[in-house]
Amino acid sequence: MRYISTRGHAPARDFADVLLAGLAEDGGLFVPESWPHFTPADWRAMRGLPYHALAARVMQPFVGDAIPFGTLQTICRDAYAGFGHPAVAPLVQLDTNLFAQELFHGPTLAFKDMAMQVLGRLFDHVLTQRDARVTIVGATSGDTGSAAIEACAGRDRVDIMILHPHERTSLVQRRQMTTVHAPNVGNIALEGTFDDCQDMVKAMFADAPFRNEMHLSAVNSINWARIAAQIPYYVAAALALGAPDREIAFSVPTGNFGNILAAWAARRMGLPVARLIVGSNRNDILYRFLDKNDMSMVPVEPSLSPSMDIQVSSNFERLLFELLERDPVALTRTMQRFREIGRMPVPDAVWHRARGVLHGFRLDDPGTEAEIRRLHAASGYLADPHTAIGIAAARAHAPGQGIPTVAMATAHPAKFPDAMERATGMRPPLPPRMTDLYEREERFTVMPNDLTAVQAQVRALVGRNRG
Ligand SMILES: *Cc1c(COP(=O)(O)O)cnc(C)c1O
Repeated sequence: MRYISTRGHAPARDFADVLLAGLAEDGGLFVPESWPHFTPADWRAMRGLPYHALAARVMQPFVGDAIPFGTLQTICRDAYAGFGHPAVAPLVQLDTNLFAQELFHGPTLAFKDMAMQVLGRLFDHVLTQRDARVTIVGATSGDTGSAAIEACAGRDRVDIMILHPHERTSLVQRRQMTTVHAPNVGNIALEGTFDDCQDMVKAMFADAPFRNEMHLSAVNSINWARIAAQIPYYVAAALALGAPDREIAFSVPTGNFGNILAAWAARRMGLPVARLIVGSNRNDILYRFLDKNDMSMVPVEPSLSPSMDIQVSSNFERLLFELLERDPVALTRTMQRFREIGRMPVPDAVWHRARGVLHGFRLDDPGTEAEIRRLHAASGYLADPHTAIGIAAARAHAPGQGIPTVAMATAHPAKFPDAMERATGMRPPLPPRMTDLYEREERFTVMPNDLTAVQAQVRALVGRNRG
């Protein structure tokens, strides 16, 4: 399998190259040259497989010849062995045709683990093959950093340094990053905001000598391998509920559009997905687009569901590429206009194509709290604020006609104890394997917002492990 750039000016690459590169050289996103297709018989043959075996089978066409299938199977088995539920991504029934699929049984209790646990192992494998090392640097306001650290801790070929804004993350989120004690993991608490952390990471990448010396790399949400590793749980849910002999709908609490893009990919591969429902909070750019073709940037406002607080969804570019019938010239023009005028000019025909599959939904903070309360009262189910938006969206836009709708449960409620307590009067406990999180020793360095100082800290981490 080869990958091309949405902007049309990068050479085609294989899966291993795309994994290490992240973004294409022309600033575009990598997409498969053609979509793999599974027949109904192929889907039926996957019914009843353990999750890790299903994951390897679904990812195989994307990986192609870059990694032997046996290795991919081992990687998937190891990646999901540490999950806190034997089904890995279990379905919970909430109503006659309404289900939640819990994607939060990984080490950091959020859905990012589903892909990151595979990604860390893919990195190690490919880098060993090439006798190379990389240094991953990233900025986080919460979930992504901890999932990346958990995925990379103890890997032979990877060092990882994550920057978070000092005293501006939640206690759970900080402790999930700073209590991982592996020699290849570093944490910097930067004196500044999340934007300062992001600018610092950008400045490190922009410093070419430093970037080359450290072999800098990233694991951000545009990495194609992350999308590929998110497709299998849609397949697992659909097969469990009767696919390919029955249609299904998915509802996804959405931020950077990576999770729902994986659902779209599953549909493109032949899974009978009748509808995709996009859940947003008050940061509702996707809702406005789907509602009235208004994709315009407005400032981000904080909400109860911080992982959906976005101005622009970076993975939307991949969907747009498909909606534009894979025309890289039209895509590039549209993205450039979007940057220039802050509003994306999407032709009506293309917008209607999007609306043929995608339905938008938005819920503000009071609505989210009310939905958490309602769910708890109705079925005893504790949904975190992100999940609650997905479930409310599923209720509002379920296709009916006996088609089951599965809402993605993207975070464990114990990650948001304050919101849960306000809505239900109770603070959900951490799962047993994590109850000592608040007692574990933390390791991080508080640093000024100073490039030279931060670079020295990265160099010291890498020097210890390469030396
Ligand atoms: C990252 C995240 C999301 C958003 O997922 P995208 O792939 O960015 O759309 C939703 N909920 C939670 C809990 C997350 O961590």
